[in-house]
Amino acid sequence: MLQPTKRYFEYTSDTRCSVRGCEKPPEYEVYLYDYYPLYHEEFFEQDQTCPFLCEHHMEENEFLADGLRTPRGYVKYPYSNRYQA
Ligand SMILES: [Zn+2]
Repeated sequence: MLQPTKRYFEYTSDTRCSVRGCEKPPEYEVYLYDYYPLYHEEFFEQDQTCPFLCEHHMEENEFLADGLRTPRGYVKYPYSNRYQA
């Protein structure tokens, strides 16, 4: 199993879903993944802008995501990946 290179926020019992106004405990930790074949490098780190999502917002995030899910593809998510990595 690939380990993320960066993890900004640790999960604690006080952790809540990263969507503003949502008070639900998170079900998912959000990671960004990309692969650069030219450099044989992988990019895999926690999403700083949205580290945790509850079940409901994870589904919404995936459902509303728009774009190509391929290496170097650009996928626009409504909640996660706000820096558009
Ligand atoms: Zn939520």
